[in-house]
Amino acid sequence: MSGEGAQAVPDGSVADHDADGPAEEPAGSGPAVRRLAAWDAAVLRDLAVEHGSPLYVLDLDRVRENYRRLDAAFDEAEVYYATKANTLGRCLATLADEGAGLECASAGEVVRALDALEQVAGETPLVDGSRVQYTAVSPPAADLDTVCELWEAYPELTVTVGAADTLDRLESRDYDGRLCVRVNPGVGAGHHEKVRTGADAKFGVPYDEAADLLAEADDRNFDVVGIHAHAGSGISDESDLANHEELVSRMGDLAREAPVPLEFVDVGGGFGVPYHEDAPALDLDAVAQATREALGEVDATLRIEPGRYLVADAGVLLTTVNTVKETPETVVTGVDTGMTTLLRPAMYDAYHAIRNLSADIGDAERETVGQTVVGPICESSDSFCSNRPLPRPERTDLLAIGNAGAYGYEMASHYNSRPRPATVTLADGTASLARRRETLADVTRLEVDHQ
Ligand SMILES: *Cc1c(COP(=O)(O)O)cnc(C)c1O
Repeated sequence: MSGEGAQAVPDGSVADHDADGPAEEPAGSGPAVRRLAAWDAAVLRDLAVEHGSPLYVLDLDRVRENYRRLDAAFDEAEVYYATKANTLGRCLATLADEGAGLECASAGEVVRALDALEQVAGETPLVDGSRVQYTAVSPPAADLDTVCELWEAYPELTVTVGAADTLDRLESRDYDGRLCVRVNPGVGAGHHEKVRTGADAKFGVPYDEAADLLAEADDRNFDVVGIHAHAGSGISDESDLANHEELVSRMGDLAREAPVPLEFVDVGGGFGVPYHEDAPALDLDAVAQATREALGEVDATLRIEPGRYLVADAGVLLTTVNTVKETPETVVTGVDTGMTTLLRPAMYDAYHAIRNLSADIGDAERETVGQTVVGPICESSDSFCSNRPLPRPERTDLLAIGNAGAYGYEMASHYNSRPRPATVTLADGTASLARRRETLADVTRLEVDHQ
């Protein structure tokens, strides 16, 4: 079987959609959360048999559902997907097809975003770049070169600057197009120090200088269209929400004081997803309502930039047990994927649900034992969990790691000369290979002695 056109399940649904969601949902938006337990174990097993392990699986129908739910909750806002969460072409095209704008963190992402928009536009190539914004953080010269060149073909794209000197660098490239100023709001939210950007001086211009920079950019003939702030990732609890409200209210104040008319006020992304099995779903309506109230009356459109929220629970990472080792402290379950494939546990101490699909499919009851699931990388941080209760493992068991659709493949590396895994997408119940598995030749390809 080639993988093209393989039918995932007869009725076209790959998950039990009744598992978790609130009873009433806007049409087509699906449950608020898709838990790892809701994925069909047999479908995932068949994909691993066909495409090998480790394997990323991304359900594009779920991406659509997540977009529709968010778009409905923020019905007056423009939604720009933060592409860095997952830049797979099919994922970008799915969201472009839903009408999302695309928020890009690099020139490479801008190129991929425009490709996706072109692909979706098909025979009516009306893509003018208006649905693309590039947020320049210490932008390398090559990025500015590429974006300014693309701007000639896509004159409606927007560049967001986070430092006054980026204006000089744009001007020296003859850019006088749409410009947004990124503001450091002085408040941060987020699940981990490393993802809290709002209060970090790296990002954005100081709040008190933003109005002057808007005036200066306008004087220098840039087409000033918006202001932007992003507090960091992971609005999930009340203190995060309070930070978010604080950020939004400061942005509302700035919009009202702005020396030039603005088209939009972009309050960033960071809408959280529950990584723990028992954590509640984000109450989107409450977040949307709080955002509206905090913003107040402004003569500009609200814009949001979700990344994780749209893709996290649409993806799983499949991996195979290759080593089972009993130790006095824990059962060590060695698997064929590690921090080079899914970095979040090693980098952020992130929790990801883990499910033993073979145990769920098999008839035999298995006892639950505490286990530490580790990868093949020579680093002690190469561990997905520590002494977590899971069904007793057997060699060749297939495990699924949940919420792997966001910042999974994107952060993968070749460390330890590990080729990156393949990605399969599901759409309309049909699975197909979206990105092939790398080989060792892919890892060494750029070395000049290997040509
Ligand atoms: C990463 C990022 C986002 C998206 O963050 P999520 O937590 O994935 O929603 C949005 N805007 C900017 C500028 C970002 O850097």
